[in-house]
Amino acid sequence: MLGLMQSQPLLISGLIDFAERHHGDAEIVSRRVEGDIHRYTYKDSATRARKVAGALDGLKLGFGDRVATLAWNGYRHLELYYGVSGSGRVLHTINPRLHPDQITWIANHAEDQVLCFDLSFLPLVQAVHARCSTIKHYVAMCDEDKLPKDSGVPRLISYEAWIGAQSDSYTWPVFDENTASSMCYTSGTTGNPKAALYSHRSSTLHAYAAALPDVMCISARDAILPVVPMFHVNAWGIPYSAALTGAKLVFPGPAMDGKSIYELMEAEKVTYAAGVPTVWQMLLIHLSANGLKFSTLRRTVIGGSACPPAMIKAFNDDYGVEVLHAWGMTEMSPLGTLCTLKNKHDALPEEEKMKIRLKQGRAIYGVDMKIVDEAGKELPWDGKTFGDLYVKGPWIIREYFKGEGGDPLVDGWFPTGDVGTIDADGYLQITDRSKDVIKSGGEWISSIDVENIAVAHPSVAMAACIGIAHPKWDERPIVAVVKKPGMEVSRDELLKFYEGKTAKWQIPDDVVFVDAIPLGATGKILKTKLREILKDYKLPVS
Ligand code: ADP
Repeated sequence: MLGLMQSQPLLISGLIDFAERHHGDAEIVSRRVEGDIHRYTYKDSATRARKVAGALDGLKLGFGDRVATLAWNGYRHLELYYGVSGSGRVLHTINPRLHPDQITWIANHAEDQVLCFDLSFLPLVQAVHARCSTIKHYVAMCDEDKLPKDSGVPRLISYEAWIGAQSDSYTWPVFDENTASSMCYTSGTTGNPKAALYSHRSSTLHAYAAALPDVMCISARDAILPVVPMFHVNAWGIPYSAALTGAKLVFPGPAMDGKSIYELMEAEKVTYAAGVPTVWQMLLIHLSANGLKFSTLRRTVIGGSACPPAMIKAFNDDYGVEVLHAWGMTEMSPLGTLCTLKNKHDALPEEEKMKIRLKQGRAIYGVDMKIVDEAGKELPWDGKTFGDLYVKGPWIIREYFKGEGGDPLVDGWFPTGDVGTIDADGYLQITDRSKDVIKSGGEWISSIDVENIAVAHPSVAMAACIGIAHPKWDERPIVAVVKKPGMEVSRDELLKFYEGKTAKWQIPDDVVFVDAIPLGATGKILKTKLREILKDYKLPVS
């Protein structure tokens, strides 16, 4: 017997419709590429998103056609999120930090028909357009009078003239909720990038789950500043969860430095932020160097790579900001786990609570996870046994776009490529990516643990640990370190700092001081590149 409730497809247009009707006056504030601050409301955003949809019809774009963006976090990008997907086309957010060759490859692979870009990316578009064979229309996200003349980019139109010509009368089409809504290519550190193709259903369910109190805890009382880019896994779904809850949105545009982010947070009374650790590191350095405090910020989600305990403690102890440590990946839309305490932890001493907060957290409803050994056998949840982490759920990938890379699933589970432990309460702790694990004398050393201890030293800004081949132990860890500006620490002092904080054999064999650590397109440490840089490095003879 079927239930007798209404069946209504979960469509992305429903999110902006809801925000327009129930939170029409909630604000969306953006720092623009032009440098000024733009502000309007969900009602304005919804109206303009419908105009985007009409404008795509005007270009005779078919259902399912891909519309690419090269854009920062801002109101026009948000309108494209809703206008493109809401009208049944697929939004393809391209990461502008990728190499132009990779961008060309991705645009051709996705068969993008339209490319909308912020003016700061004009040189990039000029470098790639001749090789992007499927793109028929280029839209510069600017006013008509800012449209570059003689740019060499063919069929270039301004966003404002393009959508300005549309009437207000567009109504969103209704279609199957399993229809593709957006796509995002993984950074392709191994081989060509592969695309995760999200659906209206998966994105809406993810938006629901992300907003829950034990997940990102997003509400109509929040003013959210997503530093995580809208070209990186849909800014962790925040543009959708914000509309679903009516939260105020504050977009930083291209200005991601500590000073600009801090000033925007204060001016717009931001209560909530989200981003990768490297960005927050810059913000914390700016705050401590200038003796500043946050007046409204209460919570920040940190994920994308392991958040060092020193950062969680600094936010908590020095600034009264709760850090929500999150884990996920492109193939998971991206949220998998988020770290919040349980009722039974209430009475624990602060130190014990902090130990839990340092983990990557508990699975969100909708995500099932397990750790397995090399033979695929499930391992116990004892907080000690390491295993390969597998996941499944309605917003986790089933297959890459165009079947690239074959069937990624093992008995219906997606192998994440991460290694971790799960404790009896279901808290996941990521110890490494499987390719970064250091195998020393038959034991595993977590490069994340080695890095976390280094960055807890007051003179260290950033640290990256890699394994170096060793004749007796297979591999031994070394740590590459960037010092904070004007601060000093010697190799021996730093090695001494490890004593008592980890087992003796897990202490790195050496410290290499470097000016910078290579970061990938999503702000994560590029260990492949670091290994390349240090290829002639020799371990000290002990
Ligand atoms: P890509 O896979 O394209 O580099 P993703 O953003 O999808 O980019 O990266 C996902 C990976 O990032 C995860 O598989 C994991 O290795 C790492 N990661 C994400 N969040 C965390 C976290 N909180 N702690 C440790 N590693 C993390």
